[in-house]
Amino acid sequence: MTLVEKIDQLLPQTQCEQCGFEGCLPYAESLSKGESQINRCPPGGLPVMKSLAALLNQPELAIDPECGTTQPVHTVYIDETLCIGCTKCIQACPVDAIVGTKKKMHTVIQSECTGCDLCIPPCPLDCIYIKPSEEEFFPETGLSDMQKVRADKSRARHQAQQKRGENRTTITKTLPPQEKVLANRSSDSDMLSLIAMAKAKTQAKHQERE
Ligand code: SF4
Ligand code: SF4
Ligand code: SF4
Repeated sequence: MTLVEKIDQLLPQTQCEQCGFEGCLPYAESLSKGESQINRCPPGGLPVMKSLAALLNQPELAIDPECGTTQPVHTVYIDETLCIGCTKCIQACPVDAIVGTKKKMHTVIQSECTGCDLCIPPCPLDCIYIKPSEEEFFPETGLSDMQKVRADKSRARHQAQQKRGENRTTITKTLPPQEKVLANRSSDSDMLSLIAMAKAKTQAKHQERE
């Protein structure tokens, strides 16, 4: 196993980007080159920082507050009565934990959600909420057995998504211009019209009540 792989095995694989990298693997690569500090992973918290310190023979550090704080383990859920199916959340999810199609209700697959929260800011209807997970045992150092199982699954789902993205880029690069537009999952004008439609529906509901 390479040093990068050994480091990656220690990371929680939420793919949340709080470390400042586009996922756990790029952070592992940077750590392996000595270009980053070991305290940049809030989801892993002190236990993961300690395991990195031991592997890399470095002194332990407090989690860098600039990367965020360690939150309790959680997933997210969508209020399906508000969702307008704009697909923004699906596009943000690094592990394909959201299902739904354009203009249809979306839902989060709870067993696959890492709680990275990347889907929350792009939602124009603010209808994605945090759902606390049941209490988990956290070891003094490293990931718990449950976290390791989840990390292996999330790593595989993230890698599969990246592979699809690469294939998609290759395909769209070879398409004529009008087909490239069709290949886009959701254009900005589409989203604006969906939001306008949702707002109109909400206003109509308010008027009915009055
Ligand atoms: S889980 Fe940690 S290492 Fe992975 S992307 Fe998030 S902050 Fe970075
Ligand atoms: S559903 Fe949201 S919080 Fe869960 S993994 Fe996907 S982007 Fe992250
Ligand atoms: S971003 Fe919000 S409104 Fe859009 S599909 Fe996702 S949950 Fe629904």
